Amino acid sequence: MKFIADVMLGKLAKWLRIAGIDVLYNNKNNDDQLVIISNNQKRILLTRDRKLAVDKRLKEVILIENELIDKQLKEFFEKTHYKELDFFTRCILCNEMLEVVIKKHEIKEKVPIYTYLTHDEFSICNKCGRIFWKGTHRNNMKRKFEELLIE
Ligand SMILES: [Zn+2]
Repeated sequence: MKFIADVMLGKLAKWLRIAGIDVLYNNKNNDDQLVIISNNQKRILLTRDRKLAVDKRLKEVILIENELIDKQLKEFFEKTHYKELDFFTRCILCNEMLEVVIKKHEIKEKVPIYTYLTHDEFSICNKCGRIFWKGTHRNNMKRKFEELLIE
């Protein structure tokens, strides 16, 4: 299951990527572009726009009715029944799959020294170069999902 989010749902797209879900997002996409990409790439369109949600050209679309991110996430999982969460495997910024850093010393210059010394598991996005690591922030984000899904 792959997705594309409309311009209103940038925050939701980022949160879904944290859970490893494939969500395209570009704040310059207009309605026509969203329809074309959704259909061509078989991506379910996530939209806040009621008019766009009933566009006859669309093959698969989900209307996100909530405005707050927590409720949007909950609504997403209720409507998609998506279950294969794979945390911290995808770049939050560009949706690329992350690669695990095997030789830690190679990224030494790219992360804060304290982070380098206190962490062993890093992953890198080969598209934007951003480096991610496991830490309390990550755990908090994961917990947020677990709470949402249990409720
Ligand atoms: Zn990236």
